[in-house]
Amino acid sequence: MQAALGVLMVCCVCIGALYLGGRNLFTSAREAELTAIANTAALSINGDLHQKVRQTGSWRSKDYDRASLPLAKIRASNPQIKYIYTVYLSQETPRFVLDPTPAGDSDKDGVDDKSYPNQAYDDATPAMRQALYKQISTVEPHAYTDRWGTFISAYAPFYDSNGRFEGLVGVDMAQEVNLARQAKFDLKFKLALMLSVALALLTYLLVFRGAKKIRAHEEALLSAQIELTQANELLEQRVAQRTFALQNAIQTKDTFLANMSHEMRTPLNGIIGLSGLLMDTELSQDQREYVESVERSGHHLLELVSDILVAAQIRHAGIELDPKPTNINAEIERACESLRLSATNLGQEMMFDLDPKLSKLHTADSLRLRQIVTNLVGNAVKFNSQGGVIYISSSALDSGTWVLQVMDTGIGIASDKIASIYEEFTQVDASSTRRHGGTGLGLTITKGLVELMGGRIDVESTLGKGSTFIVSLPLIPDEEEEAA
Ligand code: ADP
Repeated sequence: MQAALGVLMVCCVCIGALYLGGRNLFTSAREAELTAIANTAALSINGDLHQKVRQTGSWRSKDYDRASLPLAKIRASNPQIKYIYTVYLSQETPRFVLDPTPAGDSDKDGVDDKSYPNQAYDDATPAMRQALYKQISTVEPHAYTDRWGTFISAYAPFYDSNGRFEGLVGVDMAQEVNLARQAKFDLKFKLALMLSVALALLTYLLVFRGAKKIRAHEEALLSAQIELTQANELLEQRVAQRTFALQNAIQTKDTFLANMSHEMRTPLNGIIGLSGLLMDTELSQDQREYVESVERSGHHLLELVSDILVAAQIRHAGIELDPKPTNINAEIERACESLRLSATNLGQEMMFDLDPKLSKLHTADSLRLRQIVTNLVGNAVKFNSQGGVIYISSSALDSGTWVLQVMDTGIGIASDKIASIYEEFTQVDASSTRRHGGTGLGLTITKGLVELMGGRIDVESTLGKGSTFIVSLPLIPDEEEEAA
């Protein structure tokens, strides 16, 4: 409220200042207009002729008519001008000379409208007297009244042919005309003011309504945001609950699998062991084939159960490494020994490039190391072509890293499938699985073991040309071997 009053007061002060400025401008314009007419008239007066017609009664002469003709023309072309005349100074008294106004009382104010040559102008204002004494042009500062009425006037000096000051031209604008012009100016100002106020009000209303709408939009946006945040929080809570439930379910499943596979290994070992014993007894040909089949299936099942157990253990950090002094090259060869027969049966050639530095003892978990090599070389044999090549290289880098590479010339892996091969039970091509067997757990276990040992596994593969699996692991020298 106080702010509104303040704004109103400032507006009033501004409007007042604007009005006064306008009035000043209006007055200056009027003064300039009168002065310009007086100066023009002064230039048109013949000073020499003027001297001739100064005496009383000359107003009937032709010289008088000739001398006052320019003033008559100016008066005729400026209807705002009531009187235009000349005065000169004689014995300290201003006296009229030329005046084109017709004689008589046409405005019915009881006074003869015309002034006559040599007629003393007793009502002369101080401004006129000043202009006569100083021989300068000037403007009346205010409206004044004499016997002919109330006027606003301007005076301009004129000279004879020798350049001597002769007198002044006076130009009178009737005060009624001046007031009428001023009233016109006031009306225009008021109209402009009203228009400005109306425009300001309209603008205020539009801005106010716009601001109201924006506020409403902002409020709607805010409440939508709050709702969204609440919904988001609810969603996050639910996701957290579900994740927790899922983790619990996975944990339960893995515990069940681990327990079950552990429990299955004992009877399975029994079946395999007893099948072996049975094969040592006397059997018919058919019986021998059945028992061999039981033993093969038993081994296969044992492998699967072991894989499930290891995968579940890796997922829950249930595996503990058992680092011992290890001859890495010997472990690689040992792991490959059991696969060499399958490779030979498929006409494949197995080639080795083993760094002699790795025949020295290093600290490693030999069992897990063999498991990594077996899985990678096993896959290289499985997914290789008849008569293909398997290249196994193992090198010690100066940076203290052991790099194992297993390359084959087999079916390869499509680039869009590479990312998924480490996932559990994932097999790129189900038909090849039928042909080659496998569980889809080998690479999951391999990656888990490599990462457990602080290393990484990568693969480069071209479909139809072959694959290379690269394992990088930290190489830890054996302390005793070092000391020796
Ligand atoms: P699997 O028991 O099926 O071998 P893995 O986890 O070891 O399971 O491998 C997952 C899948 O990755 C395989 O089924 C196969 O499609 C693909 N794969 C693994 N190694 C190779 C390889 N050397 N060449 C081509 N494909 C391979």
